[in-house]
Amino acid sequence: MSDTARHQTGSPDQTERLAAQLAERLRPGDVVLVAGELGTGKTTFVRGACRALGVTDPVTSPTFTIGQRYAGPVPVSHLDLYRLGSLEHEEPGLLDDYLTPDSVAFVEWPEVGAAEIGPVAATVRIEHAGGDRREIAIDA
Ligand code: ADP
Ligand code: MG
Repeated sequence: MSDTARHQTGSPDQTERLAAQLAERLRPGDVVLVAGELGTGKTTFVRGACRALGVTDPVTSPTFTIGQRYAGPVPVSHLDLYRLGSLEHEEPGLLDDYLTPDSVAFVEWPEVGAAEIGPVAATVRIEHAGGDRREIAIDA
């Protein structure tokens, strides 16, 4: 059984704080999907979670690769599958370097890689709600 918790935030800071709360529950090996249109705050959410997990590196969307790894007390993988289009045309196991048992992983645009992503610990869905407001649903 999984619960859906619905939240509203009114600033990037609030979104980061919400993410930090989720991060407290995450353990190595956990995969978190972060879905939502462009500019809803997926990367902002991941940044808040990473800070709470002890990552000090800058957290930005990977641009020239599908993902990056951040060092920290727990290593963190950050994937953005937007540019991947469809994994069908990619080599199998493309995500294996990122979805490792020792790390917590966040996946932006997870729809694209759904077939390659195993069990998930949480799914976050972010929607625009006017101005700086965002509706954030967390299934965990
Ligand atoms: P995505 O990764 O979904 O494309 P980003 O996190 O990169 O989105 O960007 C979100 C943008 O929206 C940032 O410029 C951020 O400052 C702004 N923003 C405004 N209000 C919020 C909010 N409540 N939560 C998250 N981001 C917000
Ligand atoms: Mg992003």
